[in-house]
This record gives sequence, C-alpha cells and structure tokens, in this order.
Amino acid sequence: MSRLEIKALGGCREVGRAAIQLTAGDTRVLLDYGIKIRRRKPPLYPEEPDGKVNYVALTHAHLDHSGAIPLLMKKKPPKVLGIDLTREYTEMLLWDSLRVAKKNSYEARYGEREILEFHRNYREVEYEHGVKLRGGIEIRALSAGHIPGSAMFYIRHRNKTILYTGDFNFIDTRLVEGMTLELPKVDVLIMETTYATRKHPPRSSQERELKQIIDETCSRRGTVIIPGFALARLEEISMVLYVAGTSWPVFMDGMARNIVKITLRYPNRVRDYRLLRQALSKINYVRDQKMRDKIAGSPSVVLTTSGMLEGGPVVYYVAKLHDSSESTVAIVGYQAEDTNGRRLIEERKLELSEGDLIDVNMQVRQLDFSAHTDITGMKYLIKKTRPKAVLCVHGEEANKFASEIEDTYGTTSIAPKEGETLKI
Ligand SMILES: [Zn+2]
Ligand SMILES: [Zn+2]
Repeated sequence: MSRLEIKALGGCREVGRAAIQLTAGDTRVLLDYGIKIRRRKPPLYPEEPDGKVNYVALTHAHLDHSGAIPLLMKKKPPKVLGIDLTREYTEMLLWDSLRVAKKNSYEARYGEREILEFHRNYREVEYEHGVKLRGGIEIRALSAGHIPGSAMFYIRHRNKTILYTGDFNFIDTRLVEGMTLELPKVDVLIMETTYATRKHPPRSSQERELKQIIDETCSRRGTVIIPGFALARLEEISMVLYVAGTSWPVFMDGMARNIVKITLRYPNRVRDYRLLRQALSKINYVRDQKMRDKIAGSPSVVLTTSGMLEGGPVVYYVAKLHDSSESTVAIVGYQAEDTNGRRLIEERKLELSEGDLIDVNMQVRQLDFSAHTDITGMKYLIKKTRPKAVLCVHGEEANKFASEIEDTYGTTSIAPKEGETLKI
C-alpha cells in the first residue's frame, strides 16, 4: 500500500515560490507552484518536481503561488484545479510578467503558448465540493479569506488527511469574508507563516486613520498617493474610502482597472457585491498622461500601482510630488526588502532609474491592511485542526514559529528546507 509523500519544493523559510509536492504511488500533485519576484532580475523558481505532474491545486492567483505553473505546461500538461476567477486573475498576472521580463530585458522561461495551455488545462472546482483524483486522492477546496477566489485544500489519501492553507485570513475585510471556520481535524497541517511574529491592529483603527490622513492632506491642498497591489488591495481600499464617506475625489490608475473588470464578473466571490459596485462607481479612472498631470497636486486621492513602487504610474506621482510636503504617500501593504517602497519608508528616497535617487519630502505614513492572518490566527488554526504534524512554510520566520509550536503544543513542527520530505 503506497504511502503519501510530502516534499517541499519551495517557499522554505521565505515568502515566495510556494510549492509542495505530494506523491502517492505514481500520482503526483503540486500544491501551488509559484515564483519569487526580484527587482529587475529574473524571478527565482522552486525546485523541479520529481517526475510527471498529474495535477496542480492552485490556491490563488498571486504569482508567488502561480507564477511557475507555465513551466509545467511545456509537455504533458497537468490539470490545474482552482476556483473560477483564479484562472482569470492568474492569466492576467502571467501576461503581465511576460511584459515585465521584456521591460527588464531578461528572457522569460515560458511564452504565450504555455499561458494558453494553462487556460486549456484549468479545471474549475467549487468550495466544499470534493473532487476524486487518480491514485485514490480526494481533494476539497475551502474558502481561505485572503483575496477573492482564494482557497485552502483539504486532501485525503486512504485514512490520512492534509490541510494546505495557501495564504489565509480569518477576519472579514471590506472585500472578502474571512476563511471558513468549519475546519476538519487533520494529520498534517501545511501552513503559511508570513506574520508568525506579528499581531495586526484592528482593521477599524486602520480605516479611521486612513480617513484622517486623507482629510488632513486634502485640507491643506495636498494629494494622497496610495500605492497598492492591483489584485484585491486597491479594490478593498476603494471600499474603505466609500464606507468612510470620503468627500475628496478618488482616482484609480494602472492595472487595477483591469482587475476590477474581472472581479465584477464574479459577484459571489466578494463579501458585498452591491457595496463593491457602489464604491467603484465613485472612482474616477485615469485615462491618460494629461489627466495624471492635472490630478497630481490637486486635493485628491490616487489609488495606483505598483504596490511596492517598483514601476507603474505611482513612480510618476511620487516623482512629481516629491517636494510637496503637503502631500502624503499612504503605504497600505507590505514592502519587501530592496524595494523602492522600503527605501521610501526608511530613507525617504525614491529611485527613478538605476542609481538615480531623489529625496522625497512628502509625508510618508504606514498602515496595516494585511490580507494574511497574524500569529493569533495561526495558533487558532492549529488548535482547531489538531494536527499530528505541522509544516511551516511561506515565512521568513517559519523556523522560529515551528519551534514555538513544538514547545507550546508538543506537536511535531518542521520548517522544511528545499527538498525535505515527510512520509505519512
Ligand atoms: Zn497571496
Ligand atoms: Zn503568498
């Protein structure tokens, strides 16, 4: 009787290139297959699977979970299992990453054909509906509360069970409901540990603060620039502003507009579709450079990409307003090391092109609208699922968290290294 082997191919003690391989007999399933994005350089990929892959279970569209899947599409493509809109979001991000490669003059490791194969081999699954795979494996998607369409996977093979979380969040945000609380008991829990040492402030306090920043800035005739990731983040912020009753004009610029078009086609994947529509109806979309010139410097709010200020219209806005001490950059998302966003926070500088730095005299404020759970949520998940073993992935402090779990609960906890395996 074949046992189930779990092997970490990526996302080991780092955020990025999430990839877990499950093998049962001659059936191979990947749980996510993502990349790690780097500044102006080709992304990092996870390890290659041990052989032919039959299925990829894709938790959500973010490239750190989906970005390496096209590599599997070159010959004998696997079936990709995921929620309906995850396919559309992922395709949009994959096309965009081809453009990013071209812009930074490195060769992408896949092309158009592989993205089309991804589309062709995608099989939609629905939350809470079990799907039987070959090799006696059963898989069920559970809602993960991270972004619209995000899923966790509950996997059963003979009498053994696994829960793979992908990225997850317990709390409701304006855009999506928190993850399911109907959690099964499992043998092995494979979990993300992005915020393994952090506690998030209550969202309501962050919403109030953002409103205050906007009122203060616009009252002194400044512009508020809110850089955010196009997928989900800027949509959520537009809802926050609508609910808070912001009276200043709100603009949206960059790829977010295309994302909005996709989201609006999936009413049942957001928490309150009417509210989303109402919020978006108040948004003014930036059409061209002339409009951009007019907005920058007027009392208004601009929601724009990219989230870490690594290109996109946000660079134009901050460059133009860099000397305006009346204006504010409100950071609403995580800023990775070695990004313009991190540099702005730490040094009040922005890099326009390689080595070309300017001082930024705008106000810089940081808020926490994280779409990931924090240490409290992680511990709660462990208590609810009562695993015999925990695999901690997708976190720079996965190792520290694993020891803490082992000390507190006596549960075997591992922060695997690349290539490390576990048999159950
Ligand atoms: Zn994510
Ligand atoms: Zn992630």
